[in-house]
Amino acid sequence: MTTVAGLPTARGFACGPVFVYRGDGEIPIPEYVIEPGREEEELVRLRRAKLETKRDLENLIAILRERTGRADVRVFECHLMILEDASLAEETERYIKVDRLNAEAAVRKTANGARMQFERMNDPYFRERVRDLDDIERRILKALTGFATSPHLELKTPSIIIADDLTPSETVQLPREFVLGFATNGGSTTSHVALLARALAIPAVTGLGDITSRVKPGEFVLLDGTNGAITLNPDRATIRDFSDLVERQIELTEAVTMGAPTGTLKSGGEVRIFANVHPGVPLAGIREQGARGIGLYRSEYLWLIRGMEPTEEEQFVAYRDAAKFAATLSEGGSITIRVLDIGGDKLVRGISSKEANPFLGNRSIRYLLSHRDVFRTQIRAILRASAYGKILMLYPMVSCVEELRECAVAVAEVKASLERDGIPFDHGMRVGAMIEVPSAALIADDLAKHVDFFSIGTNDLIQYTMAADRGNESVAYLYQPTNPAVLRLMRMTIDAARRNGILVGVCGESAADPIVGILWAAMGVNILSMSSTYIPLISKILARLTKDDLDEYAKVPDSMPACSTAADVFAACHTFLLGKIPNLDDILI
Ligand code: PEP
Ligand code: MG
Repeated sequence: MTTVAGLPTARGFACGPVFVYRGDGEIPIPEYVIEPGREEEELVRLRRAKLETKRDLENLIAILRERTGRADVRVFECHLMILEDASLAEETERYIKVDRLNAEAAVRKTANGARMQFERMNDPYFRERVRDLDDIERRILKALTGFATSPHLELKTPSIIIADDLTPSETVQLPREFVLGFATNGGSTTSHVALLARALAIPAVTGLGDITSRVKPGEFVLLDGTNGAITLNPDRATIRDFSDLVERQIELTEAVTMGAPTGTLKSGGEVRIFANVHPGVPLAGIREQGARGIGLYRSEYLWLIRGMEPTEEEQFVAYRDAAKFAATLSEGGSITIRVLDIGGDKLVRGISSKEANPFLGNRSIRYLLSHRDVFRTQIRAILRASAYGKILMLYPMVSCVEELRECAVAVAEVKASLERDGIPFDHGMRVGAMIEVPSAALIADDLAKHVDFFSIGTNDLIQYTMAADRGNESVAYLYQPTNPAVLRLMRMTIDAARRNGILVGVCGESAADPIVGILWAAMGVNILSMSSTYIPLISKILARLTKDDLDEYAKVPDSMPACSTAADVFAACHTFLLGKIPNLDDILI
Protein backbone atom coordinates (compact mmCIF):
# COMPACT_ATOMS: atom_id res chain seq x y z
CA MET A 1 0.00 0.00 0.00
CA THR A 2 1.38 3.44 -0.94
CA THR A 3 -0.17 6.82 -0.25
CA VAL A 4 0.89 9.67 -2.53
CA ALA A 5 0.28 13.20 -1.28
CA GLY A 6 -0.85 16.04 -3.54
CA LEU A 7 -2.85 19.26 -3.33
CA PRO A 8 -6.33 18.97 -1.81
CA THR A 9 -8.23 20.46 -4.74
CA ALA A 10 -11.90 19.50 -4.41
CA ARG A 11 -13.27 17.99 -1.20
CA GLY A 12 -14.70 14.51 -1.08
CA PHE A 13 -13.75 10.84 -1.23
CA ALA A 14 -13.90 8.29 -4.01
CA CYS A 15 -12.73 4.76 -4.55
CA GLY A 16 -12.74 2.74 -7.72
CA PRO A 17 -10.77 1.57 -10.73
CA VAL A 18 -8.35 3.87 -12.44
CA PHE A 19 -8.78 5.16 -15.96
CA VAL A 20 -5.48 6.57 -17.17
CA TYR A 21 -6.27 9.32 -19.63
CA ARG A 22 -3.50 10.23 -22.03
CA GLY A 23 -5.26 12.95 -24.01
CA ASP A 24 -5.24 13.22 -27.76
CA GLY A 25 -1.50 12.95 -28.24
CA GLU A 26 0.69 15.33 -30.22
CA ILE A 27 -0.69 16.75 -33.41
CA PRO A 28 2.00 16.63 -36.15
CA ILE A 29 2.49 20.20 -37.36
CA PRO A 30 3.83 20.79 -40.86
CA GLU A 31 6.04 23.89 -41.01
CA TYR A 32 7.14 25.45 -44.30
CA VAL A 33 7.48 28.71 -46.19
CA ILE A 34 4.70 29.25 -48.72
CA GLU A 35 5.40 30.30 -52.30
CA PRO A 36 5.16 34.02 -53.02
CA GLY A 37 1.64 34.93 -54.19
CA ARG A 38 -0.06 32.12 -52.22
CA GLU A 39 -0.55 34.19 -49.06
CA GLU A 40 -4.23 34.84 -49.75
CA GLU A 41 -4.90 31.12 -50.20
CA GLU A 42 -3.25 30.41 -46.86
CA LEU A 43 -5.25 33.16 -45.16
CA VAL A 44 -8.46 31.60 -46.49
CA ARG A 45 -7.40 28.19 -45.03
CA LEU A 46 -6.76 29.83 -41.68
CA ARG A 47 -10.07 31.72 -41.63
CA ARG A 48 -11.98 28.56 -42.60
CA ALA A 49 -10.32 26.59 -39.82
CA LYS A 50 -11.18 29.31 -37.32
CA LEU A 51 -14.76 29.38 -38.52
CA GLU A 52 -14.99 25.60 -38.12
CA THR A 53 -13.49 25.88 -34.63
CA LYS A 54 -16.00 28.59 -33.77
CA ARG A 55 -18.90 26.42 -34.93
CA ASP A 56 -17.57 23.44 -32.95
CA LEU A 57 -17.27 25.56 -29.84
CA GLU A 58 -20.74 27.02 -30.24
CA ASN A 59 -22.15 23.51 -30.67
CA LEU A 60 -20.29 22.35 -27.60
CA ILE A 61 -21.64 25.31 -25.61
CA ALA A 62 -25.19 24.51 -26.72
CA ILE A 63 -24.82 20.84 -25.71
CA LEU A 64 -23.28 21.74 -22.37
CA ARG A 65 -25.94 24.34 -21.59
CA GLU A 66 -28.49 21.61 -22.03
CA ARG A 67 -26.54 19.01 -20.07
CA THR A 68 -24.91 20.84 -17.20
CA GLY A 69 -26.45 24.30 -16.99
CA ARG A 70 -24.42 27.44 -17.57
CA ALA A 71 -21.66 26.48 -15.13
CA ASP A 72 -19.18 24.93 -17.51
CA VAL A 73 -20.04 27.03 -20.46
CA ARG A 74 -18.10 30.05 -19.27
CA VAL A 75 -14.83 28.29 -19.90
CA PHE A 76 -15.75 27.85 -23.55
CA GLU A 77 -17.04 31.38 -23.83
CA CYS A 78 -13.57 32.37 -22.70
CA HIS A 79 -12.16 30.14 -25.50
CA LEU A 80 -14.37 31.89 -28.01
CA MET A 81 -12.97 35.20 -26.78
CA ILE A 82 -9.41 33.98 -27.32
CA LEU A 83 -10.38 32.64 -30.77
CA GLU A 84 -11.82 36.00 -31.75
CA ASP A 85 -9.12 38.11 -30.13
CA ALA A 86 -8.20 40.79 -32.70
CA SER A 87 -4.53 41.17 -31.75
CA LEU A 88 -3.85 37.42 -31.85
CA ALA A 89 -5.61 37.18 -35.22
CA GLU A 90 -3.59 40.10 -36.58
CA GLU A 91 -0.34 38.51 -35.42
CA THR A 92 -1.15 35.15 -37.04
CA GLU A 93 -2.09 36.80 -40.32
CA ARG A 94 1.10 38.85 -40.23
CA TYR A 95 3.18 35.64 -40.01
CA ILE A 96 1.43 34.46 -43.17
CA LYS A 97 1.53 37.75 -45.07
CA VAL A 98 4.98 39.00 -44.08
CA ASP A 99 6.98 35.87 -43.11
CA ARG A 100 5.08 33.64 -45.57
CA LEU A 101 4.64 30.92 -42.98
CA ASN A 102 2.04 28.22 -43.56
CA ALA A 103 -1.13 28.62 -41.46
CA GLU A 104 -0.25 25.82 -38.98
CA ALA A 105 3.18 27.30 -38.26
CA ALA A 106 1.67 30.78 -37.93
CA VAL A 107 -0.89 29.54 -35.39
CA ARG A 108 1.78 27.75 -33.37
CA LYS A 109 4.12 30.77 -33.39
CA THR A 110 1.34 33.12 -32.22
CA ALA A 111 0.28 30.69 -29.48
CA ASN A 112 3.90 30.26 -28.32
CA GLY A 113 4.30 34.03 -28.01
CA ALA A 114 1.05 34.43 -26.05
CA ARG A 115 1.94 31.45 -23.83
CA MET A 116 5.23 33.09 -22.90
CA GLN A 117 3.43 36.30 -21.95
CA PHE A 118 0.85 34.44 -19.84
CA GLU A 119 3.52 32.39 -18.08
CA ARG A 120 5.48 35.47 -17.12
CA MET A 121 2.49 36.95 -15.30
CA ASN A 122 2.51 36.96 -11.55
CA ASP A 123 -1.14 36.12 -11.14
CA PRO A 124 -1.58 32.35 -10.76
CA TYR A 125 -5.12 32.56 -12.13
CA PHE A 126 -3.84 34.20 -15.27
CA ARG A 127 -0.97 31.71 -15.63
CA GLU A 128 -3.60 28.97 -15.60
CA ARG A 129 -5.13 30.51 -18.72
CA VAL A 130 -2.25 28.94 -20.65
CA ARG A 131 -4.41 25.81 -20.60
CA ASP A 132 -7.17 27.71 -22.41
CA LEU A 133 -4.68 28.83 -25.00
CA ASP A 134 -3.42 25.22 -25.46
CA ASP A 135 -6.98 24.07 -25.89
CA ILE A 136 -7.90 26.61 -28.54
CA GLU A 137 -4.60 26.18 -30.41
CA ARG A 138 -5.21 22.45 -30.53
CA ARG A 139 -8.69 22.92 -31.94
CA ILE A 140 -7.53 25.26 -34.72
CA LEU A 141 -4.64 22.95 -35.61
CA LYS A 142 -6.98 19.98 -35.75
CA ALA A 143 -9.27 21.90 -38.08
CA LEU A 144 -6.29 22.87 -40.28
CA THR A 145 -4.61 19.48 -40.45
CA GLY A 146 -7.72 17.34 -40.39
CA PHE A 147 -6.01 15.39 -37.60
CA ALA A 148 -8.65 13.05 -36.24
CA THR A 149 -9.26 13.05 -32.53
CA SER A 150 -8.10 9.79 -31.06
CA PRO A 151 -11.02 7.57 -30.08
CA HIS A 152 -12.75 9.60 -27.44
CA LEU A 153 -12.40 8.71 -23.86
CA GLU A 154 -14.36 5.51 -23.69
CA LEU A 155 -15.45 5.39 -20.13
CA LYS A 156 -17.77 2.47 -19.69
CA THR A 157 -17.65 2.03 -15.93
CA PRO A 158 -17.44 4.51 -13.06
CA SER A 159 -13.72 5.31 -12.68
CA ILE A 160 -11.19 7.65 -11.18
CA ILE A 161 -9.60 9.64 -13.98
CA ILE A 162 -5.84 9.91 -13.72
CA ALA A 163 -4.13 12.22 -16.16
CA ASP A 164 -1.05 14.31 -16.64
CA ASP A 165 -3.31 17.34 -16.69
CA LEU A 166 -6.75 17.95 -18.17
CA THR A 167 -7.81 20.75 -20.45
CA PRO A 168 -11.18 22.37 -19.79
CA SER A 169 -12.75 20.69 -22.83
CA GLU A 170 -11.44 17.29 -21.79
CA THR A 171 -12.81 17.78 -18.29
CA VAL A 172 -16.33 18.79 -19.20
CA GLN A 173 -16.74 16.34 -22.04
CA LEU A 174 -16.19 13.40 -19.72
CA PRO A 175 -19.44 11.59 -19.00
CA ARG A 176 -20.17 12.91 -15.49
CA GLU A 177 -22.00 9.74 -14.43
CA PHE A 178 -18.81 7.70 -14.87
CA VAL A 179 -16.37 10.10 -13.23
CA LEU A 180 -15.76 9.28 -9.58
CA GLY A 181 -12.81 11.61 -9.13
CA PHE A 182 -9.80 13.30 -10.72
CA ALA A 183 -6.12 12.96 -9.93
CA THR A 184 -3.52 14.78 -11.99
CA ASN A 185 0.27 15.02 -12.12
CA GLY A 186 0.17 18.78 -12.58
CA GLY A 187 -2.39 21.47 -11.91
CA SER A 188 -3.05 23.70 -8.96
CA THR A 189 -5.97 24.79 -6.84
CA THR A 190 -6.78 27.53 -9.36
CA SER A 191 -6.54 25.31 -12.44
CA HIS A 192 -9.62 24.68 -14.54
CA VAL A 193 -9.82 21.06 -13.51
CA ALA A 194 -9.93 22.34 -9.91
CA LEU A 195 -12.65 24.89 -10.57
CA LEU A 196 -14.75 22.47 -12.56
CA ALA A 197 -14.28 19.62 -10.11
CA ARG A 198 -15.52 21.87 -7.30
CA ALA A 199 -18.40 23.18 -9.37
CA LEU A 200 -19.43 19.64 -10.30
CA ALA A 201 -18.78 18.31 -6.77
CA ILE A 202 -16.24 15.73 -7.98
CA PRO A 203 -13.39 14.98 -5.54
CA ALA A 204 -10.00 15.93 -6.96
CA VAL A 205 -6.32 15.90 -6.07
CA THR A 206 -3.77 17.74 -8.21
CA GLY A 207 0.00 18.20 -8.13
CA LEU A 208 0.67 14.47 -7.64
CA GLY A 209 3.96 14.51 -9.58
CA ASP A 210 4.25 11.34 -11.65
CA ILE A 211 1.05 9.60 -10.63
CA THR A 212 0.24 8.57 -14.24
CA SER A 213 3.34 6.40 -14.36
CA ARG A 214 2.74 4.87 -10.92
CA VAL A 215 -0.71 3.41 -11.57
CA LYS A 216 -1.90 0.68 -13.88
CA PRO A 217 -5.20 1.05 -15.78
CA GLY A 218 -7.99 -0.71 -13.92
CA GLU A 219 -6.09 -0.76 -10.61
CA PHE A 220 -8.26 -0.01 -7.55
CA VAL A 221 -7.33 3.23 -5.72
CA LEU A 222 -8.66 5.48 -2.97
CA LEU A 223 -8.85 9.20 -3.66
CA ASP A 224 -9.08 11.71 -0.81
CA GLY A 225 -9.80 15.18 -2.19
CA THR A 226 -10.31 16.63 1.30
CA ASN A 227 -6.76 15.98 2.46
CA GLY A 228 -5.10 15.68 -0.94
CA ALA A 229 -3.94 12.08 -1.24
CA ILE A 230 -4.31 8.97 -3.35
CA THR A 231 -3.72 5.46 -2.01
CA LEU A 232 -2.49 2.72 -4.32
CA ASN A 233 -2.84 -0.98 -3.47
CA PRO A 234 -4.89 -0.28 -0.33
CA ASP A 235 -5.17 -3.09 2.21
CA ARG A 236 -8.55 -4.43 3.36
CA ALA A 237 -8.71 -2.46 6.61
CA THR A 238 -7.93 0.82 4.82
CA ILE A 239 -10.59 0.12 2.20
CA ARG A 240 -13.14 -0.54 4.94
CA ASP A 241 -12.31 2.71 6.76
CA PHE A 242 -12.35 4.61 3.52
CA SER A 243 -15.76 3.23 2.51
CA ASP A 244 -17.11 4.62 5.79
CA LEU A 245 -15.76 8.03 4.82
CA VAL A 246 -17.47 7.81 1.42
CA GLU A 247 -20.77 6.93 3.11
CA ARG A 248 -20.45 9.73 5.62
CA GLN A 249 -19.59 12.21 2.90
CA ILE A 250 -22.84 11.27 1.13
CA GLU A 251 -24.78 11.69 4.39
CA LEU A 252 -23.23 15.12 4.91
CA THR A 253 -24.32 16.48 1.53
CA GLU A 254 -27.77 14.91 1.75
CA ALA A 255 -28.45 16.33 5.17
CA VAL A 256 -27.64 19.76 3.89
CA THR A 257 -29.62 19.57 0.67
CA MET A 258 -32.71 18.21 2.32
CA GLY A 259 -32.64 19.95 5.67
CA ALA A 260 -33.18 23.52 6.85
CA PRO A 261 -31.56 26.44 5.00
CA THR A 262 -27.78 26.50 5.31
CA GLY A 263 -26.47 28.32 8.36
CA THR A 264 -29.46 27.45 10.58
CA LEU A 265 -28.54 26.87 14.23
CA LYS A 266 -29.85 23.98 16.34
CA SER A 267 -31.73 26.46 18.51
CA GLY A 268 -33.16 28.32 15.51
CA GLY A 269 -31.68 31.56 14.28
CA GLU A 270 -28.98 31.59 11.65
CA VAL A 271 -25.67 32.76 10.35
CA ARG A 272 -26.08 33.76 6.72
CA ILE A 273 -23.82 31.73 4.46
CA PHE A 274 -22.91 33.26 1.11
CA ALA A 275 -20.55 32.29 -1.69
CA ASN A 276 -17.42 33.97 -3.04
CA VAL A 277 -17.29 33.96 -6.83
CA HIS A 278 -15.40 35.54 -9.64
CA PRO A 279 -16.18 36.10 -13.31
CA GLY A 280 -15.04 33.23 -15.51
CA VAL A 281 -15.78 30.60 -12.87
CA PRO A 282 -18.96 28.51 -12.90
CA LEU A 283 -21.84 29.95 -10.85
CA ALA A 284 -24.46 27.23 -11.06
CA GLY A 285 -22.97 24.90 -8.44
CA ILE A 286 -23.28 27.43 -5.64
CA ARG A 287 -27.06 26.99 -5.52
CA GLU A 288 -26.80 23.23 -4.87
CA GLN A 289 -24.26 23.88 -2.17
CA GLY A 290 -26.73 26.09 -0.39
CA ALA A 291 -25.36 29.62 -0.92
CA ARG A 292 -28.01 32.12 0.17
CA GLY A 293 -26.43 34.93 -1.83
CA ILE A 294 -23.11 36.05 -3.30
CA GLY A 295 -21.05 37.71 -0.60
CA LEU A 296 -18.05 38.55 -2.74
CA TYR A 297 -17.91 39.00 -6.51
CA ARG A 298 -14.26 39.62 -7.38
CA SER A 299 -14.81 42.00 -10.31
CA GLU A 300 -11.08 42.32 -11.06
CA TYR A 301 -11.22 38.99 -12.88
CA LEU A 302 -13.03 40.78 -15.71
CA TRP A 303 -9.78 42.73 -16.15
CA LEU A 304 -7.51 39.73 -15.58
CA ILE A 305 -9.33 37.54 -18.09
CA ARG A 306 -9.34 40.19 -20.82
CA GLY A 307 -5.90 41.57 -20.01
CA MET A 308 -7.36 45.07 -20.30
CA GLU A 309 -10.17 47.24 -19.01
CA PRO A 310 -13.62 45.89 -19.90
CA THR A 311 -16.05 48.40 -21.39
CA GLU A 312 -18.98 49.76 -19.37
CA GLU A 313 -21.30 47.58 -21.44
CA GLU A 314 -19.26 44.41 -20.85
CA GLN A 315 -19.21 45.14 -17.14
CA PHE A 316 -22.92 45.95 -17.05
CA VAL A 317 -23.83 42.64 -18.73
CA ALA A 318 -21.59 40.63 -16.38
CA TYR A 319 -22.94 42.35 -13.23
CA ARG A 320 -26.56 42.20 -14.37
CA ASP A 321 -26.37 38.48 -15.18
CA ALA A 322 -24.66 37.68 -11.88
CA ALA A 323 -27.26 39.76 -9.98
CA LYS A 324 -30.12 37.96 -11.73
CA PHE A 325 -28.52 34.65 -10.81
CA ALA A 326 -28.06 35.72 -7.17
CA ALA A 327 -31.76 36.61 -6.99
CA THR A 328 -32.58 32.95 -7.68
CA LEU A 329 -30.50 31.68 -4.75
CA SER A 330 -32.93 32.56 -2.01
CA GLU A 331 -35.78 34.99 -1.82
CA GLY A 332 -34.20 38.23 -2.99
CA GLY A 333 -30.66 36.77 -2.82
CA SER A 334 -28.19 39.62 -3.06
CA ILE A 335 -24.78 40.03 -4.63
CA THR A 336 -21.93 42.08 -3.22
CA ILE A 337 -19.84 43.37 -6.10
CA ARG A 338 -16.39 44.40 -5.01
CA VAL A 339 -14.96 47.17 -7.17
CA LEU A 340 -11.64 46.59 -8.93
CA ASP A 341 -9.19 45.07 -6.44
CA ILE A 342 -6.19 45.31 -8.69
CA GLY A 343 -2.55 45.40 -7.60
CA GLY A 344 -0.62 43.30 -5.10
CA ASP A 345 -0.41 39.93 -6.84
CA LYS A 346 -3.25 40.74 -9.26
CA LEU A 347 -1.47 42.56 -12.05
CA VAL A 348 -2.76 43.46 -15.50
CA ARG A 349 -0.18 44.33 -18.14
CA GLY A 350 -0.54 47.83 -19.44
CA ILE A 351 -2.67 48.82 -16.45
CA SER A 352 -0.63 47.96 -13.37
CA SER A 353 2.51 50.03 -13.02
CA LYS A 354 5.78 48.65 -11.69
CA GLU A 355 6.12 49.30 -7.97
CA ALA A 356 8.84 48.32 -5.51
CA ASN A 357 6.22 47.10 -3.02
CA PRO A 358 3.03 46.27 -4.92
CA PHE A 359 1.20 45.00 -1.82
CA LEU A 360 1.76 48.38 -0.19
CA GLY A 361 1.31 50.39 -3.35
CA ASN A 362 -1.32 52.07 -5.47
CA ARG A 363 -3.72 49.15 -5.41
CA SER A 364 -7.46 48.56 -5.07
CA ILE A 365 -9.43 51.62 -3.95
CA ARG A 366 -6.26 53.72 -4.11
CA TYR A 367 -5.90 52.85 -7.79
CA LEU A 368 -9.55 53.69 -8.47
CA LEU A 369 -9.36 57.01 -6.69
CA SER A 370 -6.32 57.92 -8.78
CA HIS A 371 -8.04 56.73 -11.99
CA ARG A 372 -11.43 58.38 -11.62
CA ASP A 373 -12.55 57.56 -15.17
CA VAL A 374 -12.06 53.82 -14.52
CA PHE A 375 -13.85 54.15 -11.17
CA ARG A 376 -16.79 56.11 -12.59
CA THR A 377 -17.22 53.63 -15.46
CA GLN A 378 -17.37 50.75 -13.01
CA ILE A 379 -19.76 52.51 -10.62
CA ARG A 380 -21.99 53.34 -13.58
CA ALA A 381 -22.05 49.71 -14.76
CA ILE A 382 -22.81 48.49 -11.23
CA LEU A 383 -25.57 51.05 -10.67
CA ARG A 384 -27.16 50.23 -14.04
CA ALA A 385 -27.11 46.53 -13.13
CA SER A 386 -28.69 47.35 -9.75
CA ALA A 387 -32.02 47.82 -11.53
CA TYR A 388 -32.04 44.04 -12.21
CA GLY A 389 -31.27 42.53 -8.80
CA LYS A 390 -30.17 43.37 -5.28
CA ILE A 391 -26.61 44.63 -5.59
CA LEU A 392 -24.35 45.91 -2.84
CA MET A 393 -21.06 47.62 -3.73
CA LEU A 394 -17.89 46.97 -1.78
CA TYR A 395 -14.68 49.03 -1.57
CA PRO A 396 -11.48 46.98 -1.17
CA MET A 397 -8.37 47.91 0.86
CA VAL A 398 -9.89 50.91 2.60
CA SER A 399 -7.37 52.38 5.02
CA CYS A 400 -8.77 55.79 6.02
CA VAL A 401 -11.96 57.88 6.21
CA GLU A 402 -10.88 60.23 3.40
CA GLU A 403 -11.10 57.37 0.91
CA LEU A 404 -14.72 56.68 1.81
CA ARG A 405 -15.57 60.37 1.50
CA GLU A 406 -14.07 60.45 -1.98
CA CYS A 407 -15.93 57.26 -2.92
CA ALA A 408 -19.20 58.88 -1.86
CA VAL A 409 -18.47 61.88 -4.11
CA ALA A 410 -17.79 59.59 -7.08
CA VAL A 411 -21.01 57.63 -6.46
CA ALA A 412 -23.05 60.85 -6.16
CA GLU A 413 -21.63 62.14 -9.45
CA VAL A 414 -22.49 58.93 -11.28
CA LYS A 415 -25.97 58.78 -9.78
CA ALA A 416 -26.62 62.37 -10.94
CA SER A 417 -25.47 61.54 -14.47
CA LEU A 418 -27.69 58.43 -14.62
CA GLU A 419 -30.64 60.47 -13.44
CA ARG A 420 -29.93 63.06 -16.13
CA ASP A 421 -29.85 60.28 -18.73
CA GLY A 422 -33.08 58.76 -17.38
CA ILE A 423 -31.39 55.40 -16.73
CA PRO A 424 -32.96 53.35 -13.92
CA PHE A 425 -30.91 52.19 -10.93
CA ASP A 426 -31.37 51.33 -7.27
CA HIS A 427 -31.24 54.72 -5.52
CA GLY A 428 -30.73 53.02 -2.16
CA MET A 429 -27.87 50.71 -3.26
CA ARG A 430 -25.82 49.91 -0.16
CA VAL A 431 -22.08 50.41 -0.05
CA GLY A 432 -19.59 48.68 2.21
CA ALA A 433 -15.93 48.79 3.17
CA MET A 434 -13.60 45.83 3.28
CA ILE A 435 -11.69 45.68 6.50
CA GLU A 436 -8.40 44.15 5.48
CA VAL A 437 -5.82 46.68 6.62
CA PRO A 438 -5.10 47.02 10.36
CA SER A 439 -5.69 50.81 10.22
CA ALA A 440 -9.25 50.17 9.03
CA ALA A 441 -9.96 47.85 11.96
CA LEU A 442 -8.51 50.39 14.37
CA ILE A 443 -10.76 53.19 13.09
CA ALA A 444 -13.75 50.95 12.33
CA ASP A 445 -16.01 53.20 14.42
CA ASP A 446 -15.24 56.16 12.16
CA LEU A 447 -15.51 54.16 8.95
CA ALA A 448 -18.87 52.76 10.02
CA LYS A 449 -20.37 56.28 9.77
CA HIS A 450 -19.70 56.27 6.03
CA VAL A 451 -20.88 52.84 4.92
CA ASP A 452 -23.80 50.44 5.27
CA PHE A 453 -21.76 47.31 6.03
CA PHE A 454 -18.31 45.87 6.62
CA SER A 455 -16.81 42.82 5.00
CA ILE A 456 -13.66 41.58 6.68
CA GLY A 457 -11.05 40.28 4.26
CA THR A 458 -9.03 38.07 6.55
CA ASN A 459 -6.72 36.91 3.73
CA ASP A 460 -5.21 40.37 3.63
CA LEU A 461 -5.94 41.42 7.20
CA ILE A 462 -3.77 38.57 8.48
CA GLN A 463 -0.94 39.30 6.04
CA TYR A 464 -0.88 43.02 6.85
CA THR A 465 -1.19 42.48 10.61
CA MET A 466 1.55 39.88 10.76
CA ALA A 467 3.63 41.44 7.92
CA ALA A 468 3.70 37.97 6.37
CA ASP A 469 3.09 37.57 2.63
CA ARG A 470 -0.02 35.43 2.24
CA GLY A 471 1.57 33.52 -0.66
CA ASN A 472 5.01 32.90 0.85
CA GLU A 473 5.41 29.42 2.31
CA SER A 474 8.50 30.31 4.31
CA VAL A 475 6.53 32.74 6.50
CA ALA A 476 3.35 30.64 6.56
CA TYR A 477 3.97 29.87 10.26
CA LEU A 478 3.14 33.52 11.00
CA TYR A 479 0.00 33.49 8.92
CA GLN A 480 -2.39 32.48 11.71
CA PRO A 481 -6.00 33.67 11.97
CA THR A 482 -6.08 32.87 15.68
CA ASN A 483 -3.07 35.01 16.52
CA PRO A 484 -4.20 37.26 19.41
CA ALA A 485 -3.30 40.37 17.36
CA VAL A 486 -5.66 39.30 14.56
CA LEU A 487 -8.36 38.38 17.07
CA ARG A 488 -8.18 41.82 18.65
CA LEU A 489 -8.65 43.52 15.28
CA MET A 490 -11.55 41.21 14.49
CA ARG A 491 -13.16 42.01 17.82
CA MET A 492 -12.73 45.78 17.28
CA THR A 493 -14.34 45.59 13.85
CA ILE A 494 -17.28 43.44 14.93
CA ASP A 495 -17.97 45.61 17.98
CA ALA A 496 -17.77 48.81 15.93
CA ALA A 497 -20.26 47.38 13.43
CA ARG A 498 -22.65 46.45 16.22
CA ARG A 499 -22.34 49.87 17.94
CA ASN A 500 -23.09 51.61 14.67
CA GLY A 501 -25.95 49.34 13.69
CA ILE A 502 -24.40 47.99 10.49
CA LEU A 503 -23.91 44.41 9.29
CA VAL A 504 -20.51 42.73 9.26
CA GLY A 505 -19.38 39.72 7.24
CA VAL A 506 -16.16 37.80 6.69
CA CYS A 507 -15.22 36.96 3.11
CA GLY A 508 -11.63 35.76 3.59
CA GLU A 509 -10.83 32.04 3.37
CA SER A 510 -10.89 31.76 7.17
CA ALA A 511 -14.71 31.97 6.98
CA ALA A 512 -14.62 28.42 5.58
CA ASP A 513 -12.37 27.07 8.33
CA PRO A 514 -14.55 24.89 10.57
CA ILE A 515 -12.91 26.08 13.78
CA VAL A 516 -12.17 29.69 12.87
CA GLY A 517 -15.20 30.51 10.71
CA ILE A 518 -17.51 29.35 13.50
CA LEU A 519 -15.52 31.51 15.93
CA TRP A 520 -16.17 34.58 13.76
CA ALA A 521 -19.89 33.74 13.77
CA ALA A 522 -19.79 33.35 17.54
CA MET A 523 -18.05 36.70 17.89
CA GLY A 524 -21.00 38.34 16.11
CA VAL A 525 -20.31 38.18 12.39
CA ASN A 526 -23.63 38.16 10.50
CA ILE A 527 -22.46 36.70 7.20
CA LEU A 528 -19.80 34.13 6.32
CA SER A 529 -18.91 34.20 2.64
CA MET A 530 -16.76 31.40 1.26
CA SER A 531 -15.92 29.08 -1.64
CA SER A 532 -19.26 27.34 -2.03
CA THR A 533 -17.82 23.82 -1.63
CA TYR A 534 -17.30 24.54 2.04
CA ILE A 535 -20.86 25.68 2.71
CA PRO A 536 -22.27 22.19 3.52
CA LEU A 537 -19.46 21.52 5.99
CA ILE A 538 -19.81 24.82 7.87
CA SER A 539 -23.60 24.45 7.88
CA LYS A 540 -23.37 20.97 9.28
CA ILE A 541 -21.38 22.30 12.25
CA LEU A 542 -23.65 25.29 12.83
CA ALA A 543 -26.67 22.96 12.79
CA ARG A 544 -25.23 21.22 15.89
CA LEU A 545 -24.75 24.38 17.92
CA THR A 546 -27.19 26.59 19.78
CA LYS A 547 -27.07 30.35 20.17
CA ASP A 548 -25.92 29.80 23.77
CA ASP A 549 -23.08 27.56 22.56
CA LEU A 550 -21.94 30.32 20.24
CA ASP A 551 -22.05 32.91 23.02
CA GLU A 552 -19.88 30.63 25.16
CA TYR A 553 -17.55 29.90 22.26
CA ALA A 554 -16.96 33.63 21.68
CA LYS A 555 -15.47 33.84 25.17
CA VAL A 556 -12.91 31.06 24.64
CA PRO A 557 -10.10 33.30 23.26
CA ASP A 558 -10.72 35.86 26.05
CA SER A 559 -10.41 33.19 28.71
CA MET A 560 -6.91 32.29 27.53
CA PRO A 561 -4.01 33.24 29.79
CA ALA A 562 -1.99 36.29 28.75
CA CYS A 563 0.74 35.65 26.18
CA SER A 564 -1.08 32.75 24.59
CA THR A 565 -0.11 31.82 21.07
CA ALA A 566 -2.16 31.30 17.93
CA ALA A 567 -1.72 27.53 18.40
CA ASP A 568 -2.97 27.73 22.03
CA VAL A 569 -6.07 29.65 20.97
CA PHE A 570 -6.73 27.25 18.12
CA ALA A 571 -6.36 24.22 20.39
CA ALA A 572 -8.70 25.74 22.98
CA CYS A 573 -11.28 26.46 20.29
CA HIS A 574 -11.01 22.93 18.92
CA THR A 575 -11.41 21.45 22.41
CA PHE A 576 -14.46 23.63 23.09
CA LEU A 577 -16.19 22.59 19.86
CA LEU A 578 -15.34 18.93 20.54
CA GLY A 579 -17.10 19.29 23.88
CA LYS A 580 -20.24 20.47 22.10
CA ILE A 581 -19.98 18.17 19.09
CA PRO A 582 -18.29 14.93 20.19
CA ASN A 583 -18.11 13.60 16.63
CA LEU A 584 -16.64 16.88 15.31
CA ASP A 585 -13.52 15.20 13.96
CA ASP A 586 -15.70 12.78 12.00
CA ILE A 587 -17.50 15.71 10.39
CA LEU A 588 -14.16 17.30 9.57
CA ILE A 589 -12.98 14.12 7.79
C1 PEP B 1 -9.39 38.99 1.57
O1 PEP B 1 -8.38 39.69 1.53
O2 PEP B 1 -9.69 38.29 2.56
C2 PEP B 1 -10.28 38.92 0.42
C3 PEP B 1 -11.43 38.28 0.46
O3 PEP B 1 -9.85 39.50 -0.72
P1 PEP B 1 -8.81 38.80 -1.74
O4 PEP B 1 -8.55 37.41 -1.27
O5 PEP B 1 -9.45 38.86 -3.07
O6 PEP B 1 -7.63 39.69 -1.60
MG1 MG C 1 -8.11 41.17 -0.04
